[in-house]
Amino acid sequence: MKIIMLGAPGAGKGTQAKMISEKYHLPHISTGDIFRANIKNGTELGKEAKGYMDKGLLVPDELTVRILLDRVAKEDCKNGYILDGFPRNIPQAEVLDKELTRLGDKIDIVIDMEVPDESIIKRMTGRRACTSCGATYHIVNVPPKKEGVCDKCGEELILRDDDREETVKKRLNIYHEQTQPLIKYYQKKGVLKTFDGTKDMMDVFTEITEILA
Ligand code: ADP
Ligand code: AMP
Repeated sequence: MKIIMLGAPGAGKGTQAKMISEKYHLPHISTGDIFRANIKNGTELGKEAKGYMDKGLLVPDELTVRILLDRVAKEDCKNGYILDGFPRNIPQAEVLDKELTRLGDKIDIVIDMEVPDESIIKRMTGRRACTSCGATYHIVNVPPKKEGVCDKCGEELILRDDDREETVKKRLNIYHEQTQPLIKYYQKKGVLKTFDGTKDMMDVFTEITEILA
């Protein structure tokens, strides 16, 4: 099963993708996580991506697409995967489709999570991310057991540089301009399923599993 998570930054894509990944034993592929891991490890790719990410801009397609195609070609993806944060514009979606068609394959379902902009801003400024394992929390909605410390691995939790309010607003604009057109794109292909992402995260997950079952 090949799944795409679609939605604004902070809509809950990562939160749901992690739960789907555990239940269905599919790799969770987040281009944002791949970039952040590269930044942490000081790679050339990380250096290049950081400049765009800190400004709330998209990393150029040629870089992002290459990384994504390399990742989905790995052995653990042969039974499917969950894409989180890719594609983020029509050209990226077209490259992915072309590659899947070449392999005689296709995307099975696109999970579109709808959350209004006002709620997104509250979520993102309250999000805390683990610097080591990538787990995410929210200071009000999903607090860790001990403030500032990851429940899963004990490492430090931080506010991402790009989760500050001004940057979030910029990322939302880019979402509306470049990513939202993908809703129509996948609707036309008949694979889009829309979910109300403002609901409790376990309720959203239950609705998703009913569709995937
Ligand atoms: P995305 O991957 O779409 O950027 P995340 O999954 O990281 O979004 O979620 C953004 C923030 O909102 C996180 O702090 C997360 O804990 C919180 N969150 C996720 N889903 C919900 C929900 N259904 N209700 C309330 N808060 C949520
Ligand atoms: P995310 O973790 O999905 O919120 O992504 C964080 C940042 O990484 C984005 O704001 C972009 O700068 C960059 N990024 C992640 N995925 C993509 C993508 N598919 N295309 C371009 N930039 C991306």
